[in-house]
Amino acid sequence: MKVLLVEDDVMIGENVQIALDGDGIAVDWVKDGAAAETALAAYAYDALLLDLGLPQKDGIDVLRGLRAKGSSIPVLVVTARDTLEQRVQGLNTGADDYLVKPFDLEELIARLHALVRRARGGGDPHYRKGDVAINPATRQVLVADRQVVLSSREWAILDTLVARPGAIFSRAQLEERLYGWSGEVESNAVEVYIHGLRKKLGQQFIINVRGLGYMVEKL
Ligand code: CA
Repeated sequence: MKVLLVEDDVMIGENVQIALDGDGIAVDWVKDGAAAETALAAYAYDALLLDLGLPQKDGIDVLRGLRAKGSSIPVLVVTARDTLEQRVQGLNTGADDYLVKPFDLEELIARLHALVRRARGGGDPHYRKGDVAINPATRQVLVADRQVVLSSREWAILDTLVARPGAIFSRAQLEERLYGWSGEVESNAVEVYIHGLRKKLGQQFIINVRGLGYMVEKL
């Protein structure tokens, strides 16, 4: 999962970035409304974490512009504006969820996952192939009914592949899901995590399409 964080408070921004990174979520961070619009136009994100009180352009205006363009990206508004009226305004403008500062980082992460899950659509959340069963909602991975523990980065790769079975992701696309702008990318990171996943899930689980990238089989 990759999210755009829009937050002008450096301390909050850093804390959110560290917490999301620890959860295997890649974060691009911008500090004003105009930069947010530039990033949203240039890159694909799974969700937007939006502060409302921002320099250059207010968060509500960023949100309004986004929805006016027809974007359906899940938006979690995180703000200190906590009157009922302001909340209603945020939701009416197209926010999917609302969190008031100060907030709990674990709650932020849980709500973010819930939003992205909802956006990906319902249906059977499980991906099953052979004796491997993956539940993206609970992040539970079973191999022959035994629970397998993945690192947050292994999970980030697996979650990306399983969200679109049959789609081929290039190494660069997977790297992008692993790291935000600030992250250091080791040159063979994707191969290392794929290797780890294959050891845990079976060599054939992740398919390498020569010269193109990686995928999991469409069921
Ligand atoms: Ca602010």
